Amino acid sequence: MPNFEELGISSEVLKGIGELGFQTPTPVQEEIIPLFLETENDIVGLAQTGTGKTAAFGLPLIDQCDTDDDSTQALILSPTRELCVQIAKDLENYGKYVKNLRVTAVYGGASIENQIRDLKKGTHIIVGTPGRTLDLIKRKRAKVGGITTLILDEADEMLHMGFRDELDAILENTPKDKRTLLFSATMPKDVARIADTYMFDPLRVTIGKQNSGAENVKHLYYQVHAKDRYLALKRIADVNPDIYGLVFCRTRAETKDTADKLIKDGYNADALHGDLSQSQRDHVMKRFREGTLQMLVATDVAARGIDVQNISHVINYNLPDDIEDYIHRSGRTGRADKHGISISIVNFRERSRIPHLEKILGKKIEKKKVPNGPEICSKQLFNMIDKMEHVTVDETQIEPFMETVMKKLDWLDKEEVIKRFVSLEFNRFLEYYKDAPDLNKEDRRDSGRKDRDRGRDGDRGRGRDGNRERGKREQNRSQDRKGGYIKLFINVGRIDGVNPPRLIGMINDKTRDRDISIGSIDIAEKHTIFQVSEQFADKVIKALSDTQFKGRHVRVDYSGEVPGKKKKKGKKKK
Ligand code: ADP
Ligand code: MG
Repeated sequence: MPNFEELGISSEVLKGIGELGFQTPTPVQEEIIPLFLETENDIVGLAQTGTGKTAAFGLPLIDQCDTDDDSTQALILSPTRELCVQIAKDLENYGKYVKNLRVTAVYGGASIENQIRDLKKGTHIIVGTPGRTLDLIKRKRAKVGGITTLILDEADEMLHMGFRDELDAILENTPKDKRTLLFSATMPKDVARIADTYMFDPLRVTIGKQNSGAENVKHLYYQVHAKDRYLALKRIADVNPDIYGLVFCRTRAETKDTADKLIKDGYNADALHGDLSQSQRDHVMKRFREGTLQMLVATDVAARGIDVQNISHVINYNLPDDIEDYIHRSGRTGRADKHGISISIVNFRERSRIPHLEKILGKKIEKKKVPNGPEICSKQLFNMIDKMEHVTVDETQIEPFMETVMKKLDWLDKEEVIKRFVSLEFNRFLEYYKDAPDLNKEDRRDSGRKDRDRGRDGDRGRGRDGNRERGKREQNRSQDRKGGYIKLFINVGRIDGVNPPRLIGMINDKTRDRDISIGSIDIAEKHTIFQVSEQFADKVIKALSDTQFKGRHVRVDYSGEVPGKKKKKGKKKK
């Protein structure tokens, strides 16, 4: 197996990737890098996510860049803001020791003025989403007229997201003699059309079965009644105390709803979907990336391309309609040689799609039983015991207390002490899973009330079970998360011009408090329902009520049930 040097990578770039810990090229890098450097052909690369495509095109691209020349030499198009930021950051890391290399990311949902300012300073490589890039090309700010290389990353996804017209327009605006590389996990018709129309006799590289990402992923499914999906999800989380997972839902509403329930039930979870403002999305992603957040519930689009290391589980809250989506989803785990598990929660109807999916995957999807109460309890218990055995004891800190503690516990023998400490941590699980129903039964009549009303036990916090460190870092935020979010109603909606940034702006403006965390925002025609953390609800209501929004008198109130408060749906608060 050749190393990066033998593939022709310069010593400056070698130094950069050395710091990232890249030692041996992945298969896609081994194939693409020599083709990139030694030929001038267009290239179509078919490889799944997690195979290392960014470095496959990024390393040779940087090496071919003439940094003495200030002009823009390459354009990389990628479907989402998150991906653009990630690619730009990756390239900067690869090129850390390449003198004067400049990379600029441009994407929607952020100030175009700042991006224009960045572009003005001169940049060698632009990484952009199709929409914003086209906008900047039209404004003559992104100068792509002289590029020598165009890279279409995750082309299938860009088309899937409806960027067809933008792509066509951008491709028309770039020089005919440039070189084009197209990367895609799958090759649907519209991607083939792009290749046929805009690429000249491309070399095709398919990295199929060797794909380490997919190889390392184990696939399994649980079969339950549709109504038990959420209960099954909780059991998955409970039976994997150290889960670091991505939960996929089909719609934004389902994403919000599932994340809300998890938060309310004390799990360390949050949602990522298109209704969030850009800064909310950034915030959620940052927490997930740092590992502060254990479970991220997301839509396919919002999560596409996110490269987060070490994701232990991908959970399909239901099977995606599109099998390609399943492949993309499960590619989020098992990255860079780590092992991962892809779990699908499947109802009795969806079950019939499993064999087809297995055929496409070329892999067995194993049917597993939803874990039952005793299984979960023993898993949690041993996890706890294990942590206890490995905990660091700070002798000097606890020393002063030990004497009194020992004296106080003097009357208990060792077994008794252990029993009590274990119960202290563990009673909650025992209590919750006592008489918990078997979700595997096909004729399950009772809807698992027991499971459902575990309720708001904020203290049960996943941060605590899963990872004490994470838990600690999470502390500040979970302060305002205690009890979770509350839904508020406001009597202005889409026809009044409400959108998430405006609403957030208004809340910040009127409350003069930037710490208020705002959850999901549902904008209807004439009203909006939004979430704020419980402790700020009154403040927000007070600050916004009796103000004006675009000339309309504003009313804000609790929407629906409020714990400890009377239901005052839509009525003006006195
Ligand atoms: P893709 O674009 O194919 O989904 P990425 O380029 O995002 O994949 O790479 C997936 C992960 O693997 C990244 O975290 C990246 O840093 C890591 N990676 C890529 N190439 C190597 C390598 N040669 N050695 C070690 N890690 C690598
Ligand atoms: Mg990629």
